[in-house]
Amino acid sequence: MPQTSTRPLAIFGGTFDPVHLGHLSVAWEAAELLDAEVRLLPASVPPHRAPPIASAAQRVAILRAALQGQSRLTLDTRELDRAGPSYTVDTLHELRVEQGERPLVLLLGADAFAGLASWHRWRELFGAAHLGVLSRPGVSAVLPDELEREVAGRRVAGASALRALPAGRVIELAVTPLEISATRIRELLAAGRDPRYLLPAGLFDNPALLAPYRTPAV
Ligand code: ATP
Repeated sequence: MPQTSTRPLAIFGGTFDPVHLGHLSVAWEAAELLDAEVRLLPASVPPHRAPPIASAAQRVAILRAALQGQSRLTLDTRELDRAGPSYTVDTLHELRVEQGERPLVLLLGADAFAGLASWHRWRELFGAAHLGVLSRPGVSAVLPDELEREVAGRRVAGASALRALPAGRVIELAVTPLEISATRIRELLAAGRDPRYLLPAGLFDNPALLAPYRTPAV
């Protein structure tokens, strides 16, 4: 494969229902550690989980408000524009066509990474991108055998190794642990609480943004 020294493009997918400081802080640190552009990529119909509480448009509005005032983290809404389930492998193939040989890095929290072998065409992911695994509190580093076998020969320690190839390596990114989850934030909002310091500044100035979460789902 040709050598390249291009700045990597990192993709951080998720439901973002809603985006919180756990997401933003690890995405930011990954951008620093990899010296990469990081795009947040909200998923429309996650194939492997329950549908989001907020609509796609509502989650995008929250993400836009959350990302204001900086340019290191950007938003990519392509999966929301696609009909049907959004498979990460399809998105990465699409990005590969757009980005040529530029290194792509799929960022995953340690919990998401541990469940990778249940993803659609998961082995193809390694041909499409590098994987950057973000440490997450309470998640064990032990992987299912099938995944460990696939990953074993791919691990690299330093970010520079990701620049030499467009895809195929796995790097652990030791980010500051923040024990925040969207589940907890939805619970707090549904209970009438005010989790403002778990969420990015700006969301509480516009109460309509968090309205979808304020009444419990029926
Ligand atoms: P939920 O509680 O609804 O499952 P979540 O907080 O895990 O949501 P997602 O949108 O499902 O958020 O996660 C998107 C990505 O962000 C996943 O790869 C997940 O592992 C990662 N992630 C979420 N919160 C954190 C955190 N606090 N630290 C590290 N990674 C995180």
